[in-house]
Formats: sequence, C-alpha cells, structure tokens
Amino acid sequence: MIGFGSATGERMRLVTFRDRGVVGAGAVEGDRVVALAPAYQAWLSRSGQGRAAERAAALLPPSAGELLAGGAASLDAARAAVAHAMTGGDRDGDPDLAPLTLPFDRVELLPPVLLPPKIICVGVNYADHAAESAGTFRAAPYPVLFARFAASLVGHRSPILKPAISDELDWEGELAVVIGRAGHRVARADALGLVGGYSCFNDATLRDFQRHSSQWTPGKNFAATGGFGPWIVLADAVGSPAGLDLTVTVNGERMQHASTADMTFDIPRLIEYITSFTPLGPGDVIATGTPSGVGAFRTPPRFLRPGDVVAVEISKVGRLENPVQGEDSA
Ligand code: MG
Repeated sequence: MIGFGSATGERMRLVTFRDRGVVGAGAVEGDRVVALAPAYQAWLSRSGQGRAAERAAALLPPSAGELLAGGAASLDAARAAVAHAMTGGDRDGDPDLAPLTLPFDRVELLPPVLLPPKIICVGVNYADHAAESAGTFRAAPYPVLFARFAASLVGHRSPILKPAISDELDWEGELAVVIGRAGHRVARADALGLVGGYSCFNDATLRDFQRHSSQWTPGKNFAATGGFGPWIVLADAVGSPAGLDLTVTVNGERMQHASTADMTFDIPRLIEYITSFTPLGPGDVIATGTPSGVGAFRTPPRFLRPGDVVAVEISKVGRLENPVQGEDSA
C-alpha cells in the first residue's frame, strides 16, 4: 500500500492557488505558500538536472488534487520543492520563474481539487441530523448519495453566493475525503487505503430548491455555494478519520458541533458502497454529510444573508471560512 505522507504523520497541507492569473499547486509552510512547480524547477536547475520545467510540470500539476494522482513521486517532488523554497532557495537568476513562496494571507485560494472528476455527497449521515430533519429527509438503510458539480465549489475566503431567487441558503459543515488512489469494488478493510487526504467542506444548500422534488441536485448545485478547503491534509497526518471534532460557526456563533465518529455510515463503508457501483480515482471527493444544527431546522429557522461569515473547523484538518455575498454584488 502506498502511503500519502510519512509514517510519522507529516502535516503537508496542499493548496491550489491563483497568482497573477496563473493557477498552481502549493504547500502551506508557516505563513507562506510554497509554489510547488516553480520551486521544484528551481531545485532541479540548481542540482544540475535537465528538463527542469518539463519535469516540474509533470510531477506537480496545477491542482493539489491532481498532484495526488502522481502518488509518491509527486509527493517526493513536493517535499524537495518545499525544502528548497524554505531554505532560501531563489529563482536561480531566472526572471521568468514565478516567486517560489507567497504570503498565505494574501494569496487567492481555489478549491484544493480544482475540477474533481466526481463530487459525491452523503445526505443525512448523522443520527441527530436525521432526527431533526425527520419527515423532510428520510434516512435509508443505504447511504443517501447525491452529486455536486465543480462549478458549485469555492475555495477558502472566497464568497459563498446567495442567489437572488432564494432566501433559504443554509450551511452544512462536513468532512471531505479526497481520493488519492484508484479503486473499484473495494472491501471495507481496504477502503482507507484509497484516501489521499482530508479537507473541510460546506455543503451549503438552497432548501426550497432541495425540496422541489425527491432529487436534491438543484438545491445543492447553485454556483459558488460549496465551500471547500483551505487545503488537503495528507491522510497519514490525520490517522483515523473517526473521532475528529467538527464545528460550524456563523459570525462566530456555534451552530454545529459533532464528532465524525457519529456518522451513520463511516468512511470505509461509504467507500465500500460507492465503489460497489462506480470506480473512485485520484481527485474524487466525498462530502461525508452534516450533523445537526443546520439553519432550516432551528426554531425559528435561520438562513444565511449577505455579510454573514461561515466557518467549518475540523480537528487535525483545518478551518474553512467563507463570507456570504449576494450574487448581485458579485
Ligand atoms: Mg450535506
């Protein structure tokens, strides 16, 4: 089995960012983002190795999710890039090479997997959320699955857009699984071997559109409603994905708080079930469902408004924050 990270639990945090119009994969180190392809290219050049640009582009593609597809070779290249950039590596006099590091606070972060081949979301996967929504959304003996499109995703700090057509924009904090290794018909015992890493997800939903029919696709796919990020933490750094602490706040007020141990269908079972009907591969994303405390089932209901700030924080993974903005002001 390949390992995504070291046996000691390496905390490499992989991002996808845009700088001056160019999209790249990065690794967060302290308050800096290492631009992986330029840094690796500089390191190869410094080491006197040929075809530096070509090799850097091949091993470190411009999306953290795509990078996972490169397996150990890409992660080794990323480590070399980080080591070079963080020990004073420069552009080796190449003025055309992008900066090797950028300030984390100012860089534009995109969804860590820019264009996931699949985004599979799990509905009512916590008993307490099933209870609060009983009569509206039925819990089933099999996982309730629906799909999101890549166009619905936004990265850390980017606005979640409230469409003019609905006033029922609601939050759903979730643990996201990013697949790193391909598998089809995977047994439960082998399922976690497919996981490349984890991230935070806000499966924000237009509740009225979710209720239009038995299919949730419309309410789950408005543009720029799925917060995703800030980064991918490699699976080895997280260890067991059960027992992580998940908290959602709106304007600092706690709305959801649960342990991922409370999932009805745990991550191995989700992977086993999903791969019973479709293969999973690198860059595929599973949003594992939300616990109780969403806005629609509060008394009185509370929905997101422009100016609100939603944060999804998961222990060992990170903190995803998105402001809410009206689509007209976007
Ligand atoms: Mg959800």
